[in-house]
Amino acid sequence: MFKNIIAPVQAWLLSKGQCVGCGTALSKSKKTKGKNGTVKVTCKCGRIFIYDPKNKKYRRALFEEV
Ligand SMILES: [Zn+2]
Repeated sequence: MFKNIIAPVQAWLLSKGQCVGCGTALSKSKKTKGKNGTVKVTCKCGRIFIYDPKNKKYRRALFEEV
């Protein structure tokens, strides 16, 4: 039930380049090289995201990418 409410909010935050947990701008977070030209972004709160420079979008890291 909660997932249905939280998911659109998370997608909205990510579309603005902000962490879904703490709202920090991911552009200021620590970045490391990811797979296939992506960038792994680690927020100060510990959440990990994947930035894809091709479509300029952030998404949550998959379990196997963490
Ligand atoms: Zn965060």
